[in-house]
Amino acid sequence: MIIARSASELRAATTGPISFVPTMGALHAGHASLIRVAAADGSCVVVSDFVNPSQFGEGEDFEIYPRDLDGDATIAEQAGAHILYAPDVSEIYPPDFSTTIDPGPLAQELCGAHRPGHFAGVATVVVRLFGLVGPRRAIFGRKDYQQLAILQHVTNDLALGIEIVGVPTVRDADGLALSSRNAYLSAAERSLAVTIPRALRHAAEAYAEGQRNGGVLAEIGHNALDGVALEYLELRSTDLGFYDPNLPAVLLVAGHVGTTRLIDNIVLDPTAPERAATQISTKEYA
Ligand code: AMP
Repeated sequence: MIIARSASELRAATTGPISFVPTMGALHAGHASLIRVAAADGSCVVVSDFVNPSQFGEGEDFEIYPRDLDGDATIAEQAGAHILYAPDVSEIYPPDFSTTIDPGPLAQELCGAHRPGHFAGVATVVVRLFGLVGPRRAIFGRKDYQQLAILQHVTNDLALGIEIVGVPTVRDADGLALSSRNAYLSAAERSLAVTIPRALRHAAEAYAEGQRNGGVLAEIGHNALDGVALEYLELRSTDLGFYDPNLPAVLLVAGHVGTTRLIDNIVLDPTAPERAATQISTKEYA
């Protein structure tokens, strides 16, 4: 695997169609799962490793966000990456950079309501990275469900011609979704954090038993989340519109455990209650 520190090094190293995995580094098994999906079709796999300042708000964790290029290189290579692209901020945002992508109304809801400008920062960096990397397809985690939906939308709206692929969430044995931010959790906070996937599971069990009342499902989730400072717990349709009891749905949650912000979600789909842990096209979000 080649570590490219600039776009010219990146271009010199790529061959054939590219599958692209954008990340902010601090790689874990969740990222590795995305890289394995990227590598599965034999394409040239580029993983970007860039902590994007424009998606962090004031007072958020940009400065302390974990950075470990050597560790990332090991994980990326083992998972099948060919190139780890780790640019400087000055390459992604040169001094005359002035464009911001506004992904529209969905970017103001859910996480966007609590992190103003976050999804504009995400969309802008991802589209710039698409331009620098030139992928045929790009792989994202369904853990960041709203991000995936927004990026699918942006890719469609701007006719970028890149296939967006969503990959199921990788979890620890106790159910906690893997996240680079889990490193911030103390042992006591780690125990509290696991109530998040448990709450989602409780609601999903009720849904599987036939409960379709959105208020009741949300209450089941809320009741299991004592101690988590919730930002939101919302039931939506899978395209993130209003919940419709007759259609597959997604229950999304965000909250703070101590000072650490965590997000998670679970899809409630009567036709596919146990979605296979394989690549899932995000066409459903389009
Ligand atoms: P990040 O480095 O946190 O910005 O994430 C980079 C990519 O990895 C995004 O597409 C995330 O959705 C994805 N990702 C992060 N955590 C997980 C996880 N536990 N399972 C699957 N994908 C993940």
